[in-house]
Amino acid sequence: MATQEDKRTSTSAPMKLLMVASEAAPFAKTGGLADVVGSLPPALSSLGHDVRLVMPWYRQVRTITGDLPLNQNKLSVSMGGHSYKIGYRTGEFQGVQVYFLDYPEFYDRDELYGEQGHDYTDNAERFGLLSSAAIELTRHLGFVPDVIHAHDWQAGLVPLYLHQQLRRDPSFAGTGSLFSIHNLGYQGVFPLETAKSLGIDSSLLTSDGIEYHGKLSLLKAGLRYASQVNTVSPTYCREIQTPEQGMGLDGLLRSRADHLHGLLNGLDGKLWSPAQDHTLPQAYSADDLSGKAVCKQRLQEELGLQTAPDTAIVAMVTRLDTQKGIELVLGSWEKILSRNLQLVILGTGNPDYERRLAEAADFYPGRAKVLLRFDDAQSRRIYAGSDLFLMPSRYEPCGLGQLIALRYGCIPLVHATGGLADTIIDPRIAPETANGFVFEKYQYASLLQGLDRALEAYSEPPLWQKIRHQGMTQDMSWHQAAEQYLDLYRLCKKGLQ
Ligand code: ADP
Repeated sequence: MATQEDKRTSTSAPMKLLMVASEAAPFAKTGGLADVVGSLPPALSSLGHDVRLVMPWYRQVRTITGDLPLNQNKLSVSMGGHSYKIGYRTGEFQGVQVYFLDYPEFYDRDELYGEQGHDYTDNAERFGLLSSAAIELTRHLGFVPDVIHAHDWQAGLVPLYLHQQLRRDPSFAGTGSLFSIHNLGYQGVFPLETAKSLGIDSSLLTSDGIEYHGKLSLLKAGLRYASQVNTVSPTYCREIQTPEQGMGLDGLLRSRADHLHGLLNGLDGKLWSPAQDHTLPQAYSADDLSGKAVCKQRLQEELGLQTAPDTAIVAMVTRLDTQKGIELVLGSWEKILSRNLQLVILGTGNPDYERRLAEAADFYPGRAKVLLRFDDAQSRRIYAGSDLFLMPSRYEPCGLGQLIALRYGCIPLVHATGGLADTIIDPRIAPETANGFVFEKYQYASLLQGLDRALEAYSEPPLWQKIRHQGMTQDMSWHQAAEQYLDLYRLCKKGLQ
């Protein structure tokens, strides 16, 4: 869990908040969702609010928390006519009470969502149970939240279950719900028949309900039934309301426009700080970058790259998914490597991308390195040792990679989409406040032009240092985002009155 920021005072009355999510750093992480769910609750708690989090007790959580004691009383959760007896374990992290749902049959597995490119076949039930058990837990604990905040499709049934079940209980009549979309591309789509095992009434299986192209979408349940909905950047919030980027849900999103918001993620400044990062060969800060040069040299040695202090290292740390613009990189591979640079990619995902990237790197020994694994410590050494961070995403709800890169003085080069467009300022737009480079079109030529502009700046140290300093020192803390979420929670409550 993210390090708690200094105790700050909030202007609002304390609220009771329950977060429901399928991952949270540092317990279990596959992407940016975990970073957000690991950071927002402590930020809210530091503002004086009672924040609790419910997530599964995956096999990998134990390696972080140790063996937390199992609560004696099991939860009895009924879903789709089946009665589940679920244990739970409690831990306190950075002022946040975390409840881990212990149901080995569903969560004691090697991975979170699937293995070898295949989703687990019972994901609907696994995460349906997360949602219904979270609701049951509030009742069991006698904890009546002002707002339940559900994240992504895995918690999409929370607003629906709240609407259908919990509100019948008068003590929960004032509980609102916020549903956050961290990525509209993942919609939790399952065969219609699954509705039965999830306890979803057949009357909801229409396009006005939660049916989606002849199937069932758990994301749609969240979008339709939450008091308020948000996504993680203002630009992405606009984009998903268009047919081009709405992924079939733009109509529903437009119909909820008055309840739809775009809030930028923050970044935990203590968790992601080159001055306090023990995984780095040498610490550094915006005021003393000597350690960054050491990190670069060590990275080149570690990865078998030529030790060349003046050659720019261009890095990617990413899921290998079409969303992330991997096609653009593979398609311009030779042209990218015809420039004076070294290329480092750390990623896992689509097996076809993994194979093609590894093969492409083999043609450039000492200049290109592809590491096919998920490795937090390695990612930090890459952010620290590299000069440019390439994020050519086709679409990007917010993006945390570019925010981490800013913090580590690794200047982002990004496609102008979603949160990338909202967070990275190109010198062509604002020379004084620029923190990176932006290319406008999702095309090879546009990427290469952006790359050439960045490399040109790299060859002018005063300009490079100015851009880097701007990025390393800007305020990206969760404090501001947490205040905005509090405003949204109040709106959720207000809508119920
Ligand atoms: P997304 O959530 O779509 O994957 P983000 O940019 O929002 O993308 O967040 C990605 C997060 O996951 C960042 O913290 C990034 O450093 C991390 N990450 C991605 N791939 C890897 C990897 N192979 N090893 C370690 N960390 C990774």
